[in-house]
Amino acid sequence: MPKLADYISVVTQPVIDDLRLLADKLRGKVIRNINSTAVGGGVTEILNRMVPFLQELGIDAHWDVIKGGERFFAVTKKIHNALHGATERITDDDLEVFIRTSKDNMAEMDLSGDIIFVHDPQPIALIEKKESNKWVWRCHVDVSEPQRNIWDFLMQYIPRYNAAVFSAPSFSRPLPVRQFLISPSIDPLSDKNRDLPDDMVRTVFDKYGVPLDKPVITQISRFDRLKDPVGVIDVYKRVKKYNDCRLVLAGGTASDDPEGLQVLEEVREAAGKDRDIHILLMPQNDLDVNALQRGSTVILQKSLREGFGLTISEALWKAKPVVASHVGGIPLQIKNKYSGLLCRSVDGAAFAVKQLLNNPGYARKLGENGREHIRNNFLLTRHLKDYLLLFLSLFHSEDVVYL
Ligand code: UDP
Repeated sequence: MPKLADYISVVTQPVIDDLRLLADKLRGKVIRNINSTAVGGGVTEILNRMVPFLQELGIDAHWDVIKGGERFFAVTKKIHNALHGATERITDDDLEVFIRTSKDNMAEMDLSGDIIFVHDPQPIALIEKKESNKWVWRCHVDVSEPQRNIWDFLMQYIPRYNAAVFSAPSFSRPLPVRQFLISPSIDPLSDKNRDLPDDMVRTVFDKYGVPLDKPVITQISRFDRLKDPVGVIDVYKRVKKYNDCRLVLAGGTASDDPEGLQVLEEVREAAGKDRDIHILLMPQNDLDVNALQRGSTVILQKSLREGFGLTISEALWKAKPVVASHVGGIPLQIKNKYSGLLCRSVDGAAFAVKQLLNNPGYARKLGENGREHIRNNFLLTRHLKDYLLLFLSLFHSEDVVYL
């Protein structure tokens, strides 16, 4: 696993020096991250990298995962969809399951530490065990237009936190606690993002039975309706009328996402017998994801809603041309026609993909701009600095923050 010093070549020495200076002020503090899965999805991706770096910086960082049964995760998935604006019927029984599971976790988990850093709604109720330590709620979801009753339910808990963190300015909501805007990040030196030799990329395409004989359009995402995998197939079908190409839809599922297999079935049905559509049910394999992104001609992310969309940062870091929906945190990463193309419909996405396939020079330029945009804004080192500043601010007066 890379050490902080290894990042000097990517972001320069002063950036790393800054991190060490800030971290010195937090040396020995216990910071406990809590989320709902150790496998799959963007939050896990970030914690996997963030926690070891906090430790290297001398902070006593931990990561714990709440436990829950099938019913609990079915309810939290409904809550997730409802926060993203979908209409979900969440019954009193559902909320009862949520509260009961939260209480079981409160009884079992060690909630001591200087800062308890709670990620997303699943563990939000643990705040009931707050003592004199600091608690932060880190919301990774786009809550700009939540289903009202579910937001009200969460508002029983949010004001008890010392602060809330959102990924994009458009997600912030009127709250009686301090809010921080901190966007996620990728690790440029992880297996998911580091440079790979071309022959390794080809080997991975071979392994999955995807010939590199024509342009490849790829979306890598959990099989989740909000990622619109069926819409991706519609985009591909429209493009295919004019440009011969292949489609790769690759994804695993997260242990806290019970809908994955059902969505996968819908995707298989939509793909029919088209041999140029490759549906890859991937094991958690960072090098394979890296290679698939690198070997693709165009990366698509046709999400209907999106918290941030790490897959976009990952693709741009590889200087790939990206077509992605104008939702959630995606416009932070893609400035339309500068670092990628934004779309608002299947037709718009198909038009953008065709444009890129027909203009390789333009596609290359967008990818190069995208890589620099990610270097300047969405690498792990910037994210670490933001978190260190956030942690420090918690120990200062609520009115004036001296950093
Ligand atoms: N991912 C993966 N394998 C898969 C599907 C996704 O490793 O089969 C990774 C992807 O590369 C990214 C993360 O999971 O790092 C997904 O994060 P994102 O913010 O795009 O979406 P989320 O799943 O959190 O909604």
